[in-house]
Amino acid sequence: MTKKIEFIDLKAQYRHLKEKVDERISQVLEHGQFIMGPEVRELEQKLEEYTSAKHCITVSSGTEALLISLMALGVKPSDEIITTAFTFVATAEVIALLGAIPVFVDVEPDTCNIDVSKIEGAITSKTRAIIPVSLYGQVADMDEINEIASRHGIAVIEDAAQSFGASYRGKRSCNVSTIACTSFFPSKPLGCYGDGGAIFTDNSDLAKIMREIRVHGQERRYYHTRIGVGGRMDTIQCAVVLAKLENLDWEIDQRIKIGSRYVNALGNIEGVRTLGVRDDRTCVWGQFTLLCEDREAILEKLNRVGVPTAVHYPIPLHIQPAYVNSCRIVGNLTQTEKVAHQVLSLPMHPYLGTSEQEFIIAAFSQ
Ligand SMILES: *Cc1c(COP(=O)(O)O)cnc(C)c1O
Repeated sequence: MTKKIEFIDLKAQYRHLKEKVDERISQVLEHGQFIMGPEVRELEQKLEEYTSAKHCITVSSGTEALLISLMALGVKPSDEIITTAFTFVATAEVIALLGAIPVFVDVEPDTCNIDVSKIEGAITSKTRAIIPVSLYGQVADMDEINEIASRHGIAVIEDAAQSFGASYRGKRSCNVSTIACTSFFPSKPLGCYGDGGAIFTDNSDLAKIMREIRVHGQERRYYHTRIGVGGRMDTIQCAVVLAKLENLDWEIDQRIKIGSRYVNALGNIEGVRTLGVRDDRTCVWGQFTLLCEDREAILEKLNRVGVPTAVHYPIPLHIQPAYVNSCRIVGNLTQTEKVAHQVLSLPMHPYLGTSEQEFIIAAFSQ
């Protein structure tokens, strides 16, 4: 292969969308409303339409989306939030930032998403919310999670940073829980050219509170009813997402097709397992991740022929120095620790060509 294989090819996407992106950005440069310009609300409306969620609030990142959600729910020190230790650090970080306690339960061995059967045993009088992560682009068992949460009067926040565009039982990710948070970090399924994110909810009271928290807790200019953050998304970044949104359906389709091609080709290889994807939902492969018995051997084999790889994520959060003493573990995290040793992500983006993909697949049997 003469052309270098990119793990995520943002340049190919830009070449494809150049006209739309350039035009959108130059419109912002012309009107000059760089903060809370018209593109901000325009994007929120388009995302409300796309997800069917009643309210979308754009924010400065996926991390900030999670933080603002927890603040809006009134999470305070020593409250408990149930999630998994097998996720990007931001999921637990925002909990700890508020002085609350991340409570980790184990994941399913095939999807790497939260194991619903472990949730109820982790609920105490201090539990305020559950944060299921739609890891690698697949929504967790949300109906079951919502049912448990409503019986206990607690909220559910979907960490949908990797799953924008995925569907679950006829609904879209970001519209299957009390609140959902997504990220527009450049490498996510819907990304901008910097940092950005969005919060979704059907609850109008929460939406109003989150809009206020986004801008320093102000109800109107210079009148602050609550403690907030500087959490707005830049107008230019909203303009970029608006341009990319026009091509999103095609891109999601490509992701699903490329994902199936990988699954079909690699599913029967000795020592390799592909991710379990449930029949009632789609996976948009925010990462295309495999489970490998001997990860080091495969990693070396792929890297030798120039196939870039990544590990999402090598060290679960309950054994990270920053969290080891500030989290609570319920049951054991056997599967979490097992998958952390096995996961390996392959190049995945909508512009990955068939011949490139064949080259990557062939590298496994060399
Ligand atoms: C990317 C990511 C985040 C954080 O998003 P940022 O926009 O980078 O702050 C949170 N959770 C998960 C699961 C992620 O993958």
